[in-house]
Amino acid sequence: MRLTKRLILTDADIRRAILVLTCISVVISVLVSALVVLANIGFDLSTSLPASKVLRDTLVVSTLLPAIICPLVVHRALITVRDLNLARAELDRMARTDALTGLLNRRGFDAAAKALLAEARLSVRPVGALICDIDHFKRINDTLGHDAGDEAIRQVAGHLAAAAGMQAHSVVGRQGGEEFAIFVSGLTQRELAAFAESIRAVTSGAPVLFDGRTIPVTISIGLAIDTHDSANLPDLLRLADQALYRAKEGGRNRVESALIAA
Ligand code: GH3
Ligand code: MG
Ligand code: MG
Repeated sequence: MRLTKRLILTDADIRRAILVLTCISVVISVLVSALVVLANIGFDLSTSLPASKVLRDTLVVSTLLPAIICPLVVHRALITVRDLNLARAELDRMARTDALTGLLNRRGFDAAAKALLAEARLSVRPVGALICDIDHFKRINDTLGHDAGDEAIRQVAGHLAAAAGMQAHSVVGRQGGEEFAIFVSGLTQRELAAFAESIRAVTSGAPVLFDGRTIPVTISIGLAIDTHDSANLPDLLRLADQALYRAKEGGRNRVESALIAA
């Protein structure tokens, strides 16, 4: 990611490169031309007026030619490199982003959460994962249509992104369908439970607005926390998923927790 960013040339980089390469090519061209001319007409310019004129004209041409051609060629080449790198960065971003919500998709979430997990291990911070799922979502699709369902997914995603944005070490992604995951580190078990409950309350308390209608929406959340530095990301997500299943079984619109013990 950082590597991709470094490869992208800014306009200032391109201007600097053109200036430097043009100067170098003008100097080299002038020196080479001078040497060639002097070798051919001899070094005694004071006695040979036509010879000094030839030298002067050659130097003028050898300065002007690279000064015009070099910036054009270098500019074209650098613009091509920049466009290719921008296109590659955009493809990379798209491969990690969910098109409907703008959140990370599963692949992007896994990569970002693994990086946060590694960082949390180094700093000896507890880690936790939340799986959030919209309740009876199929009903929205079935009664109000797929567009209403899409809008519900978008608005719930917005609530989750806002909540995750309040945490210093967290990442949120869409796992697929109407299911989302949040990875967070640095919260105690009690803080994480309160965080999950606040997400549930905010999301379930804000009906989805679609086409002049308000659609009541609730979510269920499964939470897993590891305070003993022992779980990996798949373990954490699997336990959160099992807790989510219990939340659904328990009547929905609730948070259920799982604790990874030493
Ligand atoms: P539960 O409370 O148990 O979670 O029930 P549910 O109806 O929310 O869950 P279920 O898994 O039965 O339904 C999920 C539906 O989500 C099925 C699928 O057609 C729909 N879906 C998946 N992805 C999208 C999407 O991108 N947009 C829309 N509108 N619907 C989607
Ligand atoms: Mg659901
Ligand atoms: Mg689901």
